[in-house]
Amino acid sequence: MNKLGVHALCWAGGWSEAEARSAIKSSAALGYDLIEIPALDPAAIDVTSTVRLLAEYKLGVSVSLGLGVNSDITSPDQDIARRGEQVLMTAVSLARDLGSNHLCGVIYSAMTKYMQPATRAGRDQCIEILSRVCAKANDSHMLVGLEVVNRYETNMINTAAEGVALCKTIGAPNARVHLDTYHMNIEESNPERAIIETGDRLGYFHIGESHRGYLGSGSIDFKAIFRGLQQANYQGPVTFESFSSEVVNPQLSSMLGIWRNLWSDSEDLCRHARQFTLAQIQAAAMAGKPGEAG
Ligand code: MN
Repeated sequence: MNKLGVHALCWAGGWSEAEARSAIKSSAALGYDLIEIPALDPAAIDVTSTVRLLAEYKLGVSVSLGLGVNSDITSPDQDIARRGEQVLMTAVSLARDLGSNHLCGVIYSAMTKYMQPATRAGRDQCIEILSRVCAKANDSHMLVGLEVVNRYETNMINTAAEGVALCKTIGAPNARVHLDTYHMNIEESNPERAIIETGDRLGYFHIGESHRGYLGSGSIDFKAIFRGLQQANYQGPVTFESFSSEVVNPQLSSMLGIWRNLWSDSEDLCRHARQFTLAQIQAAAMAGKPGEAG
């Protein structure tokens, strides 16, 4: 059974001790297995208090981030690239110290709208830096998930096939593809097939709606998505992402273009998301059984 996670920005815009407590307590109360903490500035997360709260509420954790334009590891500016590598190394240490098995997100370029395609030199530099990041993560038995996102958020990997190719080139045993239904809905011709073809390189999974609101209230065919995950025999985390102008992280909300209010009740949103996800997983499992509709 997949562990079910919820993104911290469904609950709180920051990670003060009060915000962390509220987000962790609420996630655990709804029955989630883990909370995903966005660590755009990994040095700003208080490890001691977060570890204590996770233990108190018996909740697991994952860590994600998107690099900024000033920490872009594809940049020709060596100061920027070096800063990016430092951010990633700090994030690996943070994830390790929090007890996470996953570091994921847009960790291979800036999370931004590029005005030109990726360059060969930028790509080579990214691969070199990620090899070192993966090696450090592997020492702590941590998977590194490269999140495939849409063309408005990176110029490096927009499709699952491009994610698989980048993983293969990096060649690290712990490099994985991280897929997200919101992005797949924009870029993939056939999301179900893309999941199946990613196969055992799939290491982390985000479920989000076409408008990033309530699951089932947009245009994504979740039945196909979960049948794909079932067929790929995906056993990793399935983490719910949703964003509304109701909960704002000044940096992340702007990067993601969260201008509209799609919900205001975090608890209702997240309770519904977990029930929806469990029902989809169960239905996909039944569809996969011999004699059932497959
Ligand atoms: Mn995502």
